[in-house]
Amino acid sequence: MKFSKFGQKFTQPTGISQLMDDLGDALKSDQPINMLGGGNPAKIEAVNELFLATYRALGNDNDTGEVNTTSINSMANYSNPQGDAAFIDALVGFFNRHYDWNLTAENIALTNGSQNAFFYLFNLFGGTFVNEKNESVDKSILLPLAPEYIGYSDVHVDGQHFLSVLPHIDEVTHDGEEGFFKYRVDFDALESLPALIEGRIGAICCSRPTNPTGNVLTDDEMARLAEIAKRYDVPLIIDNAYGMPFPNIIYSDAHLNWDNNTILCFSLSKIGLPGVRTGIIVAASEVIAAVSSMNAVVNLAPTRFGAAIATPLVNDDRIKQLSDDTIKPFYQQQATTAVRLLKKALGEYPLVIHKPEGAIFLWLWFKDLPITTVELYEILKEKGTLIVPSKYFFPGVDVDNYKHAHECIRMSIAADEDTLKKGITVIGEVVRGLYDEAK
Ligand code: PLP
Repeated sequence: MKFSKFGQKFTQPTGISQLMDDLGDALKSDQPINMLGGGNPAKIEAVNELFLATYRALGNDNDTGEVNTTSINSMANYSNPQGDAAFIDALVGFFNRHYDWNLTAENIALTNGSQNAFFYLFNLFGGTFVNEKNESVDKSILLPLAPEYIGYSDVHVDGQHFLSVLPHIDEVTHDGEEGFFKYRVDFDALESLPALIEGRIGAICCSRPTNPTGNVLTDDEMARLAEIAKRYDVPLIIDNAYGMPFPNIIYSDAHLNWDNNTILCFSLSKIGLPGVRTGIIVAASEVIAAVSSMNAVVNLAPTRFGAAIATPLVNDDRIKQLSDDTIKPFYQQQATTAVRLLKKALGEYPLVIHKPEGAIFLWLWFKDLPITTVELYEILKEKGTLIVPSKYFFPGVDVDNYKHAHECIRMSIAADEDTLKKGITVIGEVVRGLYDEAK
């Protein structure tokens, strides 16, 4: 069968599709696997109980025992392409209660997960544009700090339109201990990019906290990015999949701002509901209208199931309480445990860890490792431990000439303590062996 150019683009094997297959196979395998590779959220009992109770309540009115027809009707009908109106109203109320953004329903659209939102947004703001002189201009999405989220890489319908800025790497302490680093935006490099100055950037985007590193761009960095975006008349897209106010997996002192030039993307996935595929976009009404039109073509309407579960939790702020009191402390504890285990396994070796500031991963840098981390990934996979090598997290960067991109790995901290212990033991044995052999 012959596929179109579009078909070929979306069916070609990519590094990430191979990895996702490995991770999927591992989950199905009957061999014990130390799964430190995926992006699934942890199974937290208190969180699951709340979702289950809310789900059960969808069919029943607790007080009267009568069927709650509102939520059932919501799933028995398509919403309009913008998304479930009751959920959007609940979100407008919620954001306006907690921030002074003065949103209306025209500022929010829902998507089938935020990955779906990035497919829309990166194709809206990256690719071929036509200028006033009727000339074609190719515009890219500017990622101010690579490494960045692997899932952005292949979303453009034609080609790849990313431009990334490599980071400053600062040695820092964490909880008073040495052995950590933090990435910072290289604003000199960013502001001197010819593509930015010459109008070939369509939007600026960052994940905050960042997948894969757990970095949280500081408020100063965000303010500077917002100012640059305004100066060049492009939107600033903030991927808030792990950010505040839900799931709020963020330990540094950070604040969230929104204005008409900012596009905030939220998700229900990392509070524990990745399967309901619900993404939330907060943006100027012009962007929301565009997303709604794309929803109509691609999906008719976004899913309402996540909306039905989340609406009561958003209306009474339980989603925020759950995030602050349960989800955030859970991952903070996991990060502390994983750092302790890693330091024990590799304390004397050249491991440095990105300062854990949020998200559900640790980013480990094995300085001058004698092999690439893609090769390390293969060895670890043979030994039943899955991580993700760093090479894939540099969309828009020629990694062949960037050694650092071959020396890091991302490990998930969402696994239970036993799996963390076993996985880190294997990583420790293999990496110590590699450094010892090279001596
Ligand atoms: N953005 C980031 C930074 C992510 O890590 C993920 C998933 O892992 C997504 C977006 C997409 O999430 P979802 O489509 O489940 O909302």
